[in-house]
Amino acid sequence: MYRLISELYPICRSITGDGLRQTLRRLREQIRLELSEVPTGTQVFDWTVPKEWNIRDAYVKNARGERVLKDAEYEVCIDSTLEDGHLTYGEYFLPGEIRGEVLISCHTCHPSLCNDNLSGIALAASLARVLAVAPHRYSYRFLFVPGTIGAITWLARNEDKIPHIKHGLVLTGVGDAGELHYKKSRRGNAEIDRAVAHVLQHSGQPHKILEFSPYGYDERQYCSPGINLPVGRLSRTPHGTFPEYHTSADNLEFVHPEKLADALTACLTIFSLLENNQTYMNLNPKCEPQLGKRGLYRMVGGSADAGLSEMAMLWVLNQSDGRNSLLDIAERSGLSFDSIQKAARALEEHELLRKDFKSVPQAAR
Ligand code: ZN
Repeated sequence: MYRLISELYPICRSITGDGLRQTLRRLREQIRLELSEVPTGTQVFDWTVPKEWNIRDAYVKNARGERVLKDAEYEVCIDSTLEDGHLTYGEYFLPGEIRGEVLISCHTCHPSLCNDNLSGIALAASLARVLAVAPHRYSYRFLFVPGTIGAITWLARNEDKIPHIKHGLVLTGVGDAGELHYKKSRRGNAEIDRAVAHVLQHSGQPHKILEFSPYGYDERQYCSPGINLPVGRLSRTPHGTFPEYHTSADNLEFVHPEKLADALTACLTIFSLLENNQTYMNLNPKCEPQLGKRGLYRMVGGSADAGLSEMAMLWVLNQSDGRNSLLDIAERSGLSFDSIQKAARALEEHELLRKDFKSVPQAAR
């Protein structure tokens, strides 16, 4: 991820133009990104796709016509064009077993700024590569779009796809030294909001959960009232609250490979939770089943987590009446999703539990 950031850092990007295209083409070497070109003047909801801004050259010259840098009195030239063209965005759709989708969105329009948002771009590209070779139930849609106008353009052109989006994350500013911050979706209690809160809480690392507000990145568009998707935002230090924000100090020293790796782990843990958050039926609901005769009681006897595993099995058996998902049970028990999921798997293997397909909404299948 850090190497990709280093490669993309020098490119002059804007919300339209050749720098944006060059960035997306570089990403296409890693993932099968489909590029869309939307002509200048296209109406997208209340907005219009703008002209392309392309910079050809920019310099400061002294009185002798020499390009310089030192502080003095100079003539400044910026050679650029603002002409009809296209707005470019990249999209990668990874089909899963079900039609329900997880949306991952990042903005690709900023010039040479590393944390905002080459870190988000690199993280999304890595997630796409990892998920492409991992078994997954959900379909995943990755959007690499210029901020605001790109998200609006995608939503305006893809209204038919919106109902399939079950969960989503906007990724931005994930490479600085700060702790992870999750901003909840407009809904506030969506499965993604609860999943991220649970994963961060059990990560053992400092973090913050922020309530939704109508300011920030493209969650503003995904969470506008007429769209109202369950899309939250994962960042580290929030935008505007650190001195390097939107300055040349947001450079290659400001982002850290280990922080990018930690954000990748967090995202994969969140997606794993969503993938496995299913609802089960206890097949022996009249009083507790006898775990001992099935070898489930003290199955890890002697080890420190023996009690935890039994407690997780008791919680899963007690709550699996077709109404509570594994995340519901993890939240209510205070146990980690991982231990609850392991308990469910063991009980399922011993035919004490089965997935409750009736509880899965038709659209998510
Ligand atoms: Zn920004």
